[in-house]
Amino acid sequence: MVQSAVLGFPRIGANRDLKKATEAYWAGNLSQTDLLAEAKRLRLAHWKIQKDAGVDVIPSNDFALYDQVLSHIQDFGAVPERYSNVGLDRIDEYFAMGRGHQKGGVDVPSLEMVKWFDSNYHYVKPTLQDNQTFSLTSNPKAVAEYVEAKEAGINTRPVLLGPVSFLHLGKADRGQSVEPIDLLEKLLPVYVELLTKLKEAGAETVQIDEPVLVFDLPAKTKAAFKPAYEKFASVAAKIPQLVFTTYFGDIVHNLDLVPKDVYALHVDLVRNPEQLETVLSALGPKTTLSVGVVDGRNIWKTNFKRAIEVAETAVQKLGKDRVIVATSSSLLHTPHTLASEKKLDPEIADWFSFASEKAVEIALIAKAITEGPASVREALEANAKSMTARATSKRTNNPQVKERQSKIAASDYNRKSEFPSRISQQQKKLNLPLFPTTTIGSFPQTKEIRVQRNKFTKGEIAEAQYDKFIEQEIDMNVKIQDELGLDVYVHGEPERNDMVQYFGERLDGYAFTTHAWVQSYGSRCVRPPIIVGDISRPAPMTVKESKYAVSVSSKPMKGMLTGPVTCLRWSFPRDDVHQSVQAEQLALALRDEVVDLEKAGIDVIQVDEPALREGLPLRAGKEREAYLDWAVKAFRLSTVGVEDSTQIHSHFCYSEFQDFFHAIAALDADVLSIENSKSDSKLLGVFVDEAYPRHIGPGVYDIHSPRIPSEQEIKDRIEEMLQYLKPEQLWINPDCGLKTRQWKETKAALVNMVNAAKFFRAKY
Ligand code: GLN
Ligand code: ZN
Repeated sequence: MVQSAVLGFPRIGANRDLKKATEAYWAGNLSQTDLLAEAKRLRLAHWKIQKDAGVDVIPSNDFALYDQVLSHIQDFGAVPERYSNVGLDRIDEYFAMGRGHQKGGVDVPSLEMVKWFDSNYHYVKPTLQDNQTFSLTSNPKAVAEYVEAKEAGINTRPVLLGPVSFLHLGKADRGQSVEPIDLLEKLLPVYVELLTKLKEAGAETVQIDEPVLVFDLPAKTKAAFKPAYEKFASVAAKIPQLVFTTYFGDIVHNLDLVPKDVYALHVDLVRNPEQLETVLSALGPKTTLSVGVVDGRNIWKTNFKRAIEVAETAVQKLGKDRVIVATSSSLLHTPHTLASEKKLDPEIADWFSFASEKAVEIALIAKAITEGPASVREALEANAKSMTARATSKRTNNPQVKERQSKIAASDYNRKSEFPSRISQQQKKLNLPLFPTTTIGSFPQTKEIRVQRNKFTKGEIAEAQYDKFIEQEIDMNVKIQDELGLDVYVHGEPERNDMVQYFGERLDGYAFTTHAWVQSYGSRCVRPPIIVGDISRPAPMTVKESKYAVSVSSKPMKGMLTGPVTCLRWSFPRDDVHQSVQAEQLALALRDEVVDLEKAGIDVIQVDEPALREGLPLRAGKEREAYLDWAVKAFRLSTVGVEDSTQIHSHFCYSEFQDFFHAIAALDADVLSIENSKSDSKLLGVFVDEAYPRHIGPGVYDIHSPRIPSEQEIKDRIEEMLQYLKPEQLWINPDCGLKTRQWKETKAALVNMVNAAKFFRAKY
C-alpha cells in the first residue's frame, strides 16, 4: 500500500499557545513545569490531529520550544561555553542561546539566527569551536518525544536534521577558524548513538533531513555524504531505517550524493515536479520514494488530480509498497487550521488548506492510490469543484488587469532622463545641503497609536475621528523633525500596522486571515496576507496622509511605499500564476500610487524593497538571473512613471550586495538607503568598484537596540564611509525605520546624527 506522511507540523498551536506560554515563562509569569506541560499538551494535540486525519507516518521531534536546530545543538553537546558554564539550567541555557540572557549576573547575547533556506523561518546557527567535541545528552529530545507519543498510542517517525546539513548550516564561533564540515568524524558517533537509542525505544524509521542537498555545495560538503551514510549503513541492523529527506528545491545536480542504501528518499515535487523522472531513474533498486505533493510552504488546497498523477507515475515504476505520498516539506510554514477563520468569505475559504487540512489531504491522496479513486470519490469530486471554482472565479481573474499587463511597453521601464540630468533637476527643486539627513520612514509606534487603531478597527471610533488622530500624530512628527533640523522629512507611518498588510488591505486581489499565524523565529509569528487573485488598486492608498504631511511641512516630505517584490515575498503568493506576473500586477498598482503622490506635490518617494534579496533562488545561475530580471523590472515599472525632478528612493535592510550588485544598480533609484551600521564599511567597496554614480545613505546607527549612539561614533562611521563614497553622494540616515523604538532614545540618537552631518558639512 501507499503510505501517507507528514514531514513536520506547526508547533505554535491554534491560538499561538506556544508563543504565549514561552513569553509568559520569560516574563516570570509561568513556571518551568507549566511551560513544559503546555508543550506536551500541544505535541499530543498535534499528533492527534494527524492521527484523526488518517496519516500513516506522523512525525515526532518536529517540536521545539524555540527552534529545532537549536534543540540539536543542545542535545549534541555543542553548546558554546559562555552558555554552559554560567549556571543556567537546561531550559534557560537553551533560551539563552536562542534569545540571549541578561539576568542574575549573567549577560550573554544570543547565537546568530538566520533565514532557513528561502523561507521566512529563522534558525539558530550551530556555532562551533576549533576544539569542538560532541556528546549525546542523557535524555535526548528525539527519544523522549518518540516515547511520549508511543505512550499516547501513536507510533511516530522521529525527525532529525542530518549530520551534513547540521554542519553545513553551522559556522565557526567568533575567533575560531574551524571549518564545520571538518568536524564530521567527531559528530557521527553521536548520531549513531542517538539512532541506536531510537531503535531501542521502538522507532522503525527515522526522517533524516538533508535539505542542503538542494544547494550548490562546496566540494568538501559534497564529499561528506559518503562517509556519513556509509557509517550508518555499517550499523544498519542497530538503527532505524532512514528516510533521506530533501526539500525546497531539486536535487538533480546532486543526485550522485544520495546514499544508495537508505530505505527511502524524499523529494519536493511541489517546488520541482520536473525532477521526478530523473530521480526515479537514479533510485537504488530497493529504495522507496517519498513524493512531496502537498505544499508545505503555501496555503492552497492541493489539486488532488495533479498530486495523484504525480504519485501514480512513481507507483507505476516502483509499485505501491515503494511509494510514500508526503507533504513537500514540514508544514511548519503553514498556519495551524482553516477552522479558526470565521471571517473569511466562504468562496475564498474553499480554496485554502492549512496544516490540519493538509494532513487530511495527504491521507486522502494515499487512500485514492491504494484503494482506487472510487474509495474517495466524493472527496475527489469536491476537490475538482473547488479547483474549477477558483480557476474561474471573478476574484481570481480581472480582465482589465490582464489587458493592462499585455500592453506594457519597453518605455514603461525607463525614466525620462539619465541620473545626472535627473539629480540636477531634483536638486533645483529640493535645495538640499551636502550630507542631507533623513530617516527611513516609521517613527515610534506608541501605545496610544495602537490603542486608537484598535478602537478604529473595532468600530469604536469613527473614521473622521481616527483621521484626526493620525493628522495630530503627523503634526507632532513634523514638529519633532523641525526641532531636530532634518532635511528630508517623513510623515512617520502612524497609520500603518505593517508595511505589507497595510497595502494588501487597500488592494483588490488580497485576502486576510484572523488566526493564520506562522512562526518566524522563537516566539515571533507573522500573519502574511494572501494574494488570491489579479491585483489592482481601487483607490489611492497613501495619498491622503502624505498630502496632509506635505501641507504642514516646510521641508521636502518623502512619500513611503512598500515595493512590489516585498509585497509579494511577505504574502502567501498565488500558485496558479508565476510570481513574476504577481509582481508585475503589484508594480502597476504601485506605479499609479507613485504618480498620484507626485501629483499631490510629493517630490521625494521611497519604495522599500527589503525582501528583494531573500527572494534570490537558492542556487546561482539561470534561475537566479531570471528572478533578478523580473524583480528589477517590477521595481522599475513601479517607480519610473515620474518626472525627472521627482526623486525616487529605495531602502534595503542589509548591505551585502556583492552577489547581485548589477541588479541593485539596475533599479536606477536616485537614492538608496541601506542597513550598514553593524556591517563592515568595506562592503561599500562594491559601490566604488562598480563606479556606482547615484546617491547612497548607509545607515549610521543600529535601530534594533535602545542604545544611543554618540555623535563621535556617528562621525567615525561617516569618516569610514567617506573612504568609499564621494561627499556629494552620501546621505546620512539611521539603519532602518524607527517604529520599534521609544521616542526618548529616537530623539537623542537623531540629535547626534544631525550634529554629525553638520560637522561634515562644515568640513567639506
Ligand atoms: N519604511 C519602513 C519603515 O521605516 C521600512 C521598514 C523596513 O525596511 N523593513 O518602517
Ligand atoms: Zn530596513
